[in-house]
Amino acid sequence: MPNILVSNDDGIFAPGLRTLAEAMLALGDAWVVAPKDNQSASGHRKTMHRPLRATPVGQVFSPRIKAYAVDGAPSDCVALALMGLVEEDIDIVVAGVNSGPNLGQDVTYSGTVSVTLEAAIFNLPAVAFSLDSRHPDADYRPTVDFLQSITRQVLANGLPHHTILNVNFPAIPRKEIRGVRITQQGRRVYRDVLTSRTDPFGQPYYWIAGAEPEGDIETEGTDIWAIYRGFVSVTPIHLDLTRHEFMPALRNWNWDTTPELSTSEDTP
Ligand code: MN
Repeated sequence: MPNILVSNDDGIFAPGLRTLAEAMLALGDAWVVAPKDNQSASGHRKTMHRPLRATPVGQVFSPRIKAYAVDGAPSDCVALALMGLVEEDIDIVVAGVNSGPNLGQDVTYSGTVSVTLEAAIFNLPAVAFSLDSRHPDADYRPTVDFLQSITRQVLANGLPHHTILNVNFPAIPRKEIRGVRITQQGRRVYRDVLTSRTDPFGQPYYWIAGAEPEGDIETEGTDIWAIYRGFVSVTPIHLDLTRHEFMPALRNWNWDTTPELSTSEDTP
């Protein structure tokens, strides 16, 4: 029976986390180590300048699941679990199910995806799951079959080194889901605006927020394209962000850093 670590960025009480953790019990044993509060869009980060506290959580999950709430980032939860908070050897890390999609450039902000990137650093296979709805009453049940079948396949086949799967679900009934598409990252269009106001003490403050991001739904084969058409999107993501095909051209720039000989005008 595999040992499965479950985390998220929406916090320990998020309904999508409960759906994912309980779904994993059909495959093996599950541990939940998740942030105590909402850490969405917190990216891949490490808490270094203060201690971390992990509080055992009962009653939220079935008795078979041992759960901890952590006062750190999603990536902290993974490191903490894998470095000793969970005493068993973990076989796979799963994240989510996130409230809201993680498409295109979202993956660089995503705490859900950063759970899996941290797992990749520990050389473990990992899958990030997200639902294309932020509604508090969103229905996560249509995702359960896919949570189990995708995790089963990753356990059976493994993943290439430093590679994770980013899975997004359309928020539609199970019978309307048209299947799975293997996709590449699409292009997000963010609609944030900068709001500046003055606080009661006369000091300025700023808020960066706006309407839901949009995206290019026309380019076939992208994550955004697939979700828009009712498919489950599965994107392999590599921890190596190197733009390999740009390296030859970059080498041709002028990298000669030999100091120029000082002229007589420089000498006092
Ligand atoms: Mn989130």
